[in-house]
Amino acid sequence: MFRHRTPVSIAQFHCEDIGMETIPDITIPASLLPADGRFGSGPSKVRSEAVAALADVADDFLGTSHRQDTVKLVVAALRNGLLEMFDAPDGYEILLGNGGATLFWDAATFGLIENRGQFLVSGEFSSKFAKAATLAPHLGDHHVIESAPGTAPTMEPNAEVDVYCYPHNETSTGVSFPVTRPDADGLVLVDATSAAGGLRFDAANTDAYYFAPQKCFSSDGGLWLAMCSPAATERIESIAATDRWVPEILNLKTALDNSRKDQTYNTPALATIYLALKYTEWVNENGGLQFAAGRSDESASIMYGWADASPHASAFVADDANRSHVVATIDLDDAIDADTVVAVLRANGILDTSGYRKLGRNQMRVSMMPSIEPSDIEALTNCIDHVISAMA
Ligand SMILES: *Cc1c(COP(=O)(O)O)cnc(C)c1O
Repeated sequence: MFRHRTPVSIAQFHCEDIGMETIPDITIPASLLPADGRFGSGPSKVRSEAVAALADVADDFLGTSHRQDTVKLVVAALRNGLLEMFDAPDGYEILLGNGGATLFWDAATFGLIENRGQFLVSGEFSSKFAKAATLAPHLGDHHVIESAPGTAPTMEPNAEVDVYCYPHNETSTGVSFPVTRPDADGLVLVDATSAAGGLRFDAANTDAYYFAPQKCFSSDGGLWLAMCSPAATERIESIAATDRWVPEILNLKTALDNSRKDQTYNTPALATIYLALKYTEWVNENGGLQFAAGRSDESASIMYGWADASPHASAFVADDANRSHVVATIDLDDAIDADTVVAVLRANGILDTSGYRKLGRNQMRVSMMPSIEPSDIEALTNCIDHVISAMA
């Protein structure tokens, strides 16, 4: 195994990190600890089996040309495997390129938005795409619909807009959005970075379902992947035929042409592509998206069931329908400092459970993505209970 189970000693922990004098010296009994301590919402747990598979092929794969068959066959398998996992309608295809989901926002600003977009905003990630498009001097005025963190705004059909943009899962707040199409023309661009491969959806309701693979896909960052409908690829082609200036690294027509050859415009991280394929195979071989989403459903039912029953914890997202099954946001009583709980967990080898800083709540945030064992979510809830009672 790649992970050592020795907890980081409290002495190594820098107290400035949590702005506290000291953190309580609490040792969680080994019998309560999860088998794997990674609960971060991004980058998220990478399956050890996938890393071992990468190590097995490393000598023939890593450090070889991404323009030769060895790598192109892996890209092809990934593109086909994603269409299978997402049950894509005919004509949909997978595009990919470097730079992660953040780059895709700028690429879409240049290559998918004709003039005006409608943006559903509620939290950090959804606000960033709206901002990228708002700053673009070549586009018109957008329609931004914002709602309070912990909720999801709804689309308003608008004949003036040519794209509708929203996240499938807002990672900062633990809110999932229904993947629907408005009763209007316009492409539907869905940021699926923390949802893809973990939440169910109907691909026919999307025109670009895009993500980076360091979350549910149990891979690493730096890559974007997008499942595009025929309408989306037509839009890419038609904008590319105009005289709009597009930086080459952001050019979706260039990405489309390269993707169709199972390549990327510039050099990708081969390990990232390989690990993403391993996740895709794991899911597809075990029953597809139903299997993966089923694991997250099970974890979510454990996590929210625990929070509902706990005298100290409660789910932040009030509406059950929007409560994410891949990222849980859990408020703690004001009497129990969440940052201290998070620091004690970290000192015991349980990592990355802090809430989203900018939300400024007394909150923990926990990934329940499919790679995480539901039994480890159960163990985590027991560890949190242990820490809270030891702090009292
Ligand atoms: C993590 C995340 C992003 C940013 O992904 P990068 O790969 O860092 O660009 C965008 N959107 C959502 C919903 C995310 O969770």
